[in-house]
Amino acid sequence: MRQVIGVDIGGTGIKGLVTDGAGTILAEAERETEARLGRDTILAQLHSLVEELLAGHPSVEALGIASAGRINANSGEVVYATGNLPGWQGVQLTQWAEAAFGRPAAADNDANAALLGEAWLGAGRGWQSLVMLTLGTGVGGANLAAGQLLRGAAWSGGDWGHSVLVPDGRPCNCGKRGCVEQYVSGRALLRLAREETGRAYAHGREIMEAAERGDAAVLGVLMRFTADLAQVTANIGAAIDPELIIIGGGVIQSRAVWWPLLAAKAGAELAGRIVPAALGNRAGCFGAARLALERLIRDADSSKENHNCCGKEEREYG
Ligand SMILES: [Zn+2]
Repeated sequence: MRQVIGVDIGGTGIKGLVTDGAGTILAEAERETEARLGRDTILAQLHSLVEELLAGHPSVEALGIASAGRINANSGEVVYATGNLPGWQGVQLTQWAEAAFGRPAAADNDANAALLGEAWLGAGRGWQSLVMLTLGTGVGGANLAAGQLLRGAAWSGGDWGHSVLVPDGRPCNCGKRGCVEQYVSGRALLRLAREETGRAYAHGREIMEAAERGDAAVLGVLMRFTADLAQVTANIGAAIDPELIIIGGGVIQSRAVWWPLLAAKAGAELAGRIVPAALGNRAGCFGAARLALERLIRDADSSKENHNCCGKEEREYG
């Protein structure tokens, strides 16, 4: 079975795995890297991680890369990246990887990759129409219709985190006000809890523990958080009407307390279609691996087409 590498470049580290067409994990590796250190550091760490995986699995045939930012999935260029990734905009990811490792490569946005991973091996397995939200430092999003990612005309399709939930609301680092990620990200939840209780929380888990103790202020925060999230899912339902809305990201780990609140606010019809992600922080790596497998299939198809074309010409002119 064909072996590929899937890599996921995140804000605080790079993860990678070797897998095959069945999604079996054959090896894994990780590098802790602050993305804010910029392009050269990220590429050096990425290089060292892939080299380590290739040393153990030299028969790997292709490489997929998931990264934050808007990625032109055809060319593999980072067409837009925020200041959180200095120098990242303009990097030719696919070209760089093919030159560095001598194998075909593919690249896509990390939320798109996470959804591809979940659709292949996780919560979305067997479904064709999916939306994914990842609630972490920010809010990532991706749409899949008829089994195909809706990447958009400018590679920003599925960017639900920067759709507006509250007109003239909180300022967002994208320059707009009231974006979804200012209300339903993990970071937003910590901030809301601090504002409402005057206490600093380091992790969503502490908020959930306070809620379980019956802390009224914290319960109020969770009511608002889930009401806002229910509104976002209702908007997604109206726009896309997907079979499932998959919710992933760090906030999912502490969902025991808030998920029932979300289900109650979303309403019976939609609540049945909102599901937690199943692959945890491996979703992006699996999605990237999937991109690599699809690249191999595309390459094989186009070489077959060329071959057929030549054969035809030979028959015509032979
Ligand atoms: Zn925004």
